[in-house]
Amino acid sequence: MAQATTTLQQDLFEIPAEEEPPGHLANEVEEPPSLRLLRNRKKFFSGVPDASWNDWKWQFRNRITSIEALSKLIPLSVRDQINMRLVAEKYPLSITPYYFCLINHNDPHDPVRIQSLPAIEEIALAGILPEDPLEEERDSVVPGLVHRYPDRVLLVVTDICPMLCRHCTRKREWRRGRWVRTPSEIDRMADYIASNPGIRDVIISGGDPLTLSNRQLESILQKMRRIEHVEIIRIGTRVPVVLPQRIDDELCRVLSKYEPIWLNTHFNHAGEITEEARAACNKILRHGIPINNQSVLLAGVNDTVEKQLSLCHNLLKAKIRPYYLFQADEVEGTEHLRTSVEKGLRIIEGMRGHTSGLAVPTYVIDLPGGGGKVPLQTSYLVSRADGELVFKNYLGKIYRYHNPRMLASVGSRNGRRKPNDSQMALEMAVA
Ligand code: SF4
Repeated sequence: MAQATTTLQQDLFEIPAEEEPPGHLANEVEEPPSLRLLRNRKKFFSGVPDASWNDWKWQFRNRITSIEALSKLIPLSVRDQINMRLVAEKYPLSITPYYFCLINHNDPHDPVRIQSLPAIEEIALAGILPEDPLEEERDSVVPGLVHRYPDRVLLVVTDICPMLCRHCTRKREWRRGRWVRTPSEIDRMADYIASNPGIRDVIISGGDPLTLSNRQLESILQKMRRIEHVEIIRIGTRVPVVLPQRIDDELCRVLSKYEPIWLNTHFNHAGEITEEARAACNKILRHGIPINNQSVLLAGVNDTVEKQLSLCHNLLKAKIRPYYLFQADEVEGTEHLRTSVEKGLRIIEGMRGHTSGLAVPTYVIDLPGGGGKVPLQTSYLVSRADGELVFKNYLGKIYRYHNPRMLASVGSRNGRRKPNDSQMALEMAVA
């Protein structure tokens, strides 16, 4: 993933007065996700024995992929059905029975529902955003391999996902049918990496690479591990969230053979962190594979301080590090799910200091046009003069800090003060 180099100051923004502050939801009583799962499973899939339910291949085969199948499970008005069919023609749906059972079906604004069921806004707002704002295809040096940063590459090995997330950055791929890179395509990627010794970090992504068989996955991992200068391999997957049954001992054994491997997953809401998801993550961790979470800031899903705190605290309880909170990309078919950057900054400000630093993800924006990721954060530096820096803390209280006295004399020539690098960096930070 991208390493950020630029800091954006909050005071560059005039936060509009009418912007709804990311508030706290009073009196919201959430049903524990595992209880909801159990209740919904009994209601919708009562005849399915445990052996099938816990078999990831059964879950995959029985995904809900049509409006007809969906309308047999939950009541949908004729209008909803027509709208969803129109959307699904352009952006198909796919929901595992497991993930479907995490939805609170009494709440039309349920965060799991928002992420998984087609919404008319996906096509009603068509044409205002690009399909590939990050220009991944422009940066594809061989088919499926994106080389944007000097030391790392992204391998898009399939476009198949167990669940099609309505906010997906690679929605454009859904219309191309289902594909998996062939062994010879993987060989071309490996050849490219082998001939570029500066590449030390390989990210295997998709689609979801854990939809591949263990044999296919192992073949890719072997090819990457044969390249001496590849130090780490990262796997980007939403399987722990939408299909935790896939995480079995056999898969973990395969992954652990090719360490160091890091797994990046994508929980967006605390309602996704069930006992099953926790157990799957624990299995991965016990095989020596650290897990980071990369969530996306989504309107109605996780765009309040309270929801983010709940998500991050539950991630930490599951021993998953909240790594990134992404500002949603400007992708066609997702406009209704985006929030403003100002709101995102307010959320992070509402978390920082109010909980441990470990629970606060780095808020980043992936710049359109292939500019890469940059972090977004509020500035706590209020002013600086004559070596004295003035900060506000998370409660808004003011504190002063003095630079080492030596700093003031460094670079002094003939009475004219020339700032060194540290001073220049500070000048820029308060500018
Ligand atoms: S799992 Fe990732 S790649 Fe697949 S649909 Fe969801 S966001 Fe897109």
